[in-house]
This record gives sequence, structure tokens and C-alpha cells, in this order.
Amino acid sequence: MYDLIVIGGGPAGLAAACAAWEGGLRSILIVERDQELGGILNQCIHNGFGLHYFKEELTGPEYAGRFIRMLSDTGVEVRLDTMVLEVTADRQVHMVGKTTGYRVEQARSIVLAMGCRERTRGAIGIPGTRPAGVFTAGAAQRYVNMEGWMPGNRVVILGSGDIGLIMARRMTLEGAKVLACVEVMPYSGGLNRNIVQCLHDYDIPLYLSHTVTDIRGKDRVEQVVVSQVDERRNPIPGTEMVFDCDTLLLSVGLIPENELTRQAGVEMDRRTNGAVVYENMETSIPGVFACGNVCHVHDLVDFVTAESQRAGAAAARYVAQNGDAPQRVLQVRNGDGVTYTVPQRIRPDRVEKRCDLFFRVNRICGDSEILVTSGDTQIARFKREHLAPGEMENITLPRVLLDKARDEITVSIREVEQA
Ligand SMILES: Cc1cc2nc3c(=O)[nH]c(=O)nc-3n(C[C@H](O)[C@H](O)[C@H](O)COP(=O)(O)OP(=O)(O)OC[C@H]3O[C@@H](n4cnc5c(N)ncnc54)[C@H](O)[C@@H]3O)c2cc1C
Repeated sequence: MYDLIVIGGGPAGLAAACAAWEGGLRSILIVERDQELGGILNQCIHNGFGLHYFKEELTGPEYAGRFIRMLSDTGVEVRLDTMVLEVTADRQVHMVGKTTGYRVEQARSIVLAMGCRERTRGAIGIPGTRPAGVFTAGAAQRYVNMEGWMPGNRVVILGSGDIGLIMARRMTLEGAKVLACVEVMPYSGGLNRNIVQCLHDYDIPLYLSHTVTDIRGKDRVEQVVVSQVDERRNPIPGTEMVFDCDTLLLSVGLIPENELTRQAGVEMDRRTNGAVVYENMETSIPGVFACGNVCHVHDLVDFVTAESQRAGAAAARYVAQNGDAPQRVLQVRNGDGVTYTVPQRIRPDRVEKRCDLFFRVNRICGDSEILVTSGDTQIARFKREHLAPGEMENITLPRVLLDKARDEITVSIREVEQA
């Protein structure tokens, strides 16, 4: 019997395990299907990690390395090359490993930290032939940065999320010609700093409100056709541009890896595609926590770390207190302009001093106010000069304000009209 089993050894799993150890748990197991700890960070060799948490600019492997070192000072057990196949509501974890075979381990608490996977061509249904040369951006990143293979020479990138932008620069630095980055929405899904540093600095054009409408080629991609789309995202006939290329990289979204979560019977949020969580990242099954990209897709690993430390510390408290009585619950509602919030539920009595709340907006906004209301009463207001769907926002709500709220709070955006 373990006090805690952490599923996934990426930054979320590492931070949760370290925090649980600090919180007093001494029997912790991390299960990781890959051959090493670090998760997706191992293939992210660019810098830009850790600005918030370490106040330094680190590469992905450096950031992961710091947590792996912290972990090595603890007695946390790690099982690599081991895939978790099932998690049950009574906290049994079924796993299979190369050397250990099939095992079932019982845990007093579980942290789900399985990260996410990329959407593929099949998920978005691009028309055309089915030649080689169509990769997800993350797969191409792994080939270039870890396996030492170059996926192609003349590249079009569909999707302007961070992975697509990073790969536009990476492929250019490796000698490929990146002809275009194509985005179906009228705004980029990536961080502003990545648009500047990865596209503008290399004169790579970004076509907003455009999409790929045809892939041509028999054995290998020979051309992709890009068309402008209208406000309903339908291609506009007559706007086609043909790019002669051998590679199409897809950066069209991430899907949290929640097969285990659903199978365990955890309540899900269809907007985040992750578990519904309370303020301490506990799911609807007591003692089962979720954090990092498996819970909602993050842009910055620093926030993954902070959130996962909360989950690990809460798992330690859960084990120490052997669960505790149900408490007053506030539902967090999405008001105007807000796509989702995490957490979706808050138990004010469990909030020590303040509660961090993450959310995304559904449109680009200039000068704005983030309003937190409960019924007709405004309990908090925050100002922002710029909000964008590609940039996760967070606000901190002090416990005293949560104590004033009744049954639910609503987070909404109000754009401030310019005089
Ligand atoms: C291309 C790219 C560029 C990025 N750039 C930046 C950046 O510049 N700055 C920044 O701060 N952030 C960046 N990020 C974001 C950051 O890397 C992620 O938010 C973070 O890695 C998510 O951590 P995680 O632990 O939740 O998931 P992951 O890192 O994906 O880790 C999940 C782990 O779980 C394991 N796993 C999954 N299922 C199972 C199972 N069934 N059994 C056992 N193990 C399992 C996986 O193998 C994996 O190791 C970038 C991400 C990507 C993909």
C-alpha cells in the first residue's frame, strides 16, 4: 500500500511528488511510461521555461532537471517504462512494466498527471491524399531534438499555438524553409512573445483566418492548398494559395490524456476536457487529484508546477487526515467572455489564505476588468490591459472574499470603453 501514487513523471508529477514528500508522506510512487522522467520538457530544448518559478530563463530539460534533482533528495520511488492501464475509484492502480510485468498497487491517494497528446490530421479531417510528410508539431519536435532526424525541407505549419510557433523557428534553424504558418482563427493561439521571437524574427508569414483545404502528393507531400475562411470558418472559394512543400506540421490543439480519469468514474468538464476539480485539485473522487496538462492545457510550465504542488500538498493532507467531512461548496461559473475556470468548485473552509483561479477568455480584449460576482454582489475586480484566448489568465481570491460569497461565484470580463 502506497500513501500516494503519482501517474506521470512530467513536471506536474514531479512537483506533486516533491510537495507530498514535503507534506510528510513517506511512501510515494511515481509511475512513468517513458524511459526517463521530465515529460514533454525533455524535447523542448528552447529556453523560456521557469521565468516565474525560478526567475531565470531555462530550457525544458534544465527545468525538468531541477525537479529531478529535488526528487533524488527524497525517498520517492520511481517506476520507469511502466504504463498505467487502469485506475479504480477505490484507488487501485493497474500497471504494466518491462521488467516488473503486470502489477496492481493500492494507494491511499492518487495524483493524475498524465499530460496531454496532440490532435492529429484525423481529428480535424483535412481533405486530400494521404502521403508521408504530415506530422504533428510535437512529433517533429521529438524527431529533431531527441532522435536527430529532420522531418522535411519545405514546410507549412497549420495552427499558431505555441508548439507550431516554436517549430517554425526550430525547423528554420535546422536549415528548412518554413513557407507559412496558417491559423484558422482571426488571432493566434500562441503566446505573443512566441509570435515575435519565432515568426517575426525569421520573416515567416502568419496567415490568420486561413486554413489548409487540400493536401496533394502521392508518396510524399508535394503541395498544400491554403484558403481564407469566413467568420464561420468556412473556406472562401477563389482565395486558394498553393505552397510547394514536402512537409505539413500540425499544431491544432492538445487533448488532455484522460482515458484513465474517465474510466475511474471521475466527473469531467467538457470545456477543459479534464476533471472537474476543487480548490486543492481534488477531483470528484475523494483522494484522487489531477494537475498539469491532464487537468487543463497550460501555456507555461511554471503554472503547472504551482498547481501540482498544491495537488501534492493536498494529497499529503488527505492521507494525514484520512479524508474529512463535506464542507460548503461554491460553484465557479463562467460569465461573459470566459471559456472555463479551474478550479470549477471551491470549498472556502479549505482555503488557507487565498485561492488561485485560472481561466481563459473567448476573445481578444483590450483594457478590461475581470469581475467576480456572487449573486448581485461584486466581490472582486481586477484590471488587465490585454486578454487573449491563447494566454491563460489567473487571479487570486483571498479567503475573506470567498467567505462572503453564497453558493456560487461568476467570473466575467468587461471591456472598458475608451473615451
Ligand atoms: C512544444 C512545447 C513547447 C512548450 N514551450 C513552453 C515554454 O517555452 N515555456 C513554458 O513554460 N512551457 C512550455 N510548454 C508547456 C509545458 O511544457 C507543459 O505545460 C508541461 O510540460 C506540462 O506538464 P505535465 O506534467 O502536465 O505533462 P507532460 O510533460 O506531458 O508529462 C506527462 C507525463 O505523463 C506520462 N504518462 C501519460 N500517460 C501515462 C500512463 N498511462 N502511464 C504512465 N505514464 C503516463 C507521459 O509519458 C509524460 O511523461 C511547452 C509545451 C510544448 C509541448
